[in-house]
Amino acid sequence: MGLTMSSIPKIVILGAGYGGVLTSLRLQKELNYNEADVTLVNKHDYHYITTHLHMPAAGTDHPDNARVSISKLIDEFKIDFVKSTVVQIRPQDRKVILEDGTLSYDYLVIALGGEPETFGIPGLAEHAFTIRSINSVRLIREHIEYQFARYKREPHRTDYLTFVVGGAGFTGIEFVGELADRVPELCKQFDVDRSLVKIYNIEAAPTALPGFDPELVEYAMQVLQKKGVIFKIGTAIKECTSEGVVVGEGEEIKSQTVIWTGGVRGNRLIEEAGIETTRGRVKVDEYLRCPGHENIYVLGDNSLVFNEEGRPYPPTAQIAMQQGVNCAHNLVAQIRNQTLKPFVFHNKGTVASLGKGEAIGIAFGKKYKGRVASWLKKAIDLRYLFIIGGIPLVLRKGKFL
Ligand code: FAD
Ligand code: NAD
Repeated sequence: MGLTMSSIPKIVILGAGYGGVLTSLRLQKELNYNEADVTLVNKHDYHYITTHLHMPAAGTDHPDNARVSISKLIDEFKIDFVKSTVVQIRPQDRKVILEDGTLSYDYLVIALGGEPETFGIPGLAEHAFTIRSINSVRLIREHIEYQFARYKREPHRTDYLTFVVGGAGFTGIEFVGELADRVPELCKQFDVDRSLVKIYNIEAAPTALPGFDPELVEYAMQVLQKKGVIFKIGTAIKECTSEGVVVGEGEEIKSQTVIWTGGVRGNRLIEEAGIETTRGRVKVDEYLRCPGHENIYVLGDNSLVFNEEGRPYPPTAQIAMQQGVNCAHNLVAQIRNQTLKPFVFHNKGTVASLGKGEAIGIAFGKKYKGRVASWLKKAIDLRYLFIIGGIPLVLRKGKFL
C-alpha cells in the first residue's frame, strides 16, 4: 500500500465516541514507539457518555456528569488530538477536510456516530428536539424549565405543560422515565398542579420496545404509567408543527415540547463521500472495513454488522466498544503485515433504566427488573468508566451514575 510522505503510516480516527475512544486507547497500548502516527479528531474537546444523556436531558442530572475531557482519557504523547469538525471525507485523495484544515491519512477510522432519522416526517427536523449530544440535552433541559415558567404567565396554555416523546424504543423509554421523575420537582419549583402536566410517549409499532422481551416491556409500561406517562401505542407521528404533533388518523396533540426518539441513521458525511450506505450505515466486511477501501474502517452507529440469521445488530455502545478493540487490533496487524481478526460480537445483554431505582434488562441469559436491574445498569456504567479512565474516572464520575 502506498504511504504518504512520511515513512510512518498515518492513522486518523474521526469521532471520539465509544468506537473512536476505544480504538484510540487500544492503539496507544498496542503500537510500538514510532510505528504509526495517530490523530483523533472530535467536534468537542470532551467525550460524552451517550448512554447517560437521557438524565441531563430531563434535568435529573447535570450535563457535566455525562462528559469527560478527552485530554484525561488519551495519552497526548502517543495520540494527537485535534478539536475540529469534519466537513468532508475524500477517500480518493486520502484526505479529511476539517472546518479549519486538512488531514491526510493512510488508514482512516470513521466513528462519527449516528444522526436522528426522521423518515421524512414533515416538521420533525425543524420543530422537534433530539437526545444526541451535550448541547442537544442542555437545550431540552432548559426548554422544559422554560415551559413551566411560561405557563405561570399564560395559565390557559396547557400545551406548555404537555410533553410529547416520539418513539418508545430504549431512548424514548429511558427519557420518559427520567422526565416523569423530574416533573414533580418542577411542579413544586414553579407552583404548578401535577395533574396539568402530560407526558405522552407515542409509538408506531404495536408494542413499546418492539422486539424486546414482552414480560419486561409490560413491567416497564406499568412502572412508567404509575409515574404518570401516557402511552399511545400503535400510533404513528405523522407530522410535527410549531403547535404540536399530528398522530394516527389525524389527531392533534398540542405541545410546545416534542422530543424525537424515533430512530437513528449513520452520519451523512459517509454517503457524501461516495461510500455506499443503507440509511447512512456501511455494511462493513468481516474485519470492519469499508468494501472497496482496505484502509477505511467504519465503527459504531455508522456501521452495519449482521448476526448469524442475517439480521443487523442494533447500534449500541456495547457493539461500538467491541468494534473499537477489534479495529485497533486489525490496524496494528495491517501495519505489521499480519493476519487480520474477523469481528465477532459478544452480546452481554441489554439493561434500560426507567428512572430512579427502576430498570429492566436481560443479562447473562437472565431477566432482571426493578432495583436489581437498576444496580446492574449502574454496574455497567461504572465498568465503562473504568475501561476508559481507570479508577480515577470511576472515583470522579461514578457517584453521579
Ligand atoms: P458516538 O458515541 O455517538 O460518538 C460520535 C462522536 O463523533 C461524538 O463524540 C461526536 O461529537 C463526534 N462527531 C460527530 N460528528 C462529527 C464531525 N462532523 N466532526 C467531528 N466529530 C464529530 N447503547 C448501549 O449499548 N447501552 C445503553 O445503555 C445505551 N443507552 C443510550 C441512551 C441514550 C439516551 C442514547 C441516545 C443512546 C444510547 N445507546 C446505548 C446507544 C449508544 O449511545 C450508541 O450506539 C453509541 O453512542 C454509538 O457509538 P459511536 O462511537 O458510534 O458514536
Ligand atoms: P430505535 O430505533 O431503537 O427506536 C425508535 C422507536 O421509534 C421504534 O420503536 C419505532 O417503532 C418508533 N417510531 C419510528 N417512527 C415512528 C413514528 N413516526 N411515530 C411513532 N413512533 C415511531 O431508536 P432508539 O430508541 O433511539 O435507540 C437507538 C439505538 O440505541 C438502539 O440500538 C438501542 O438499542 C440503543 N439504545 C440502547 C439503550 C440501552 O441499552 N439501555 C438505551 C437507548 C438506546
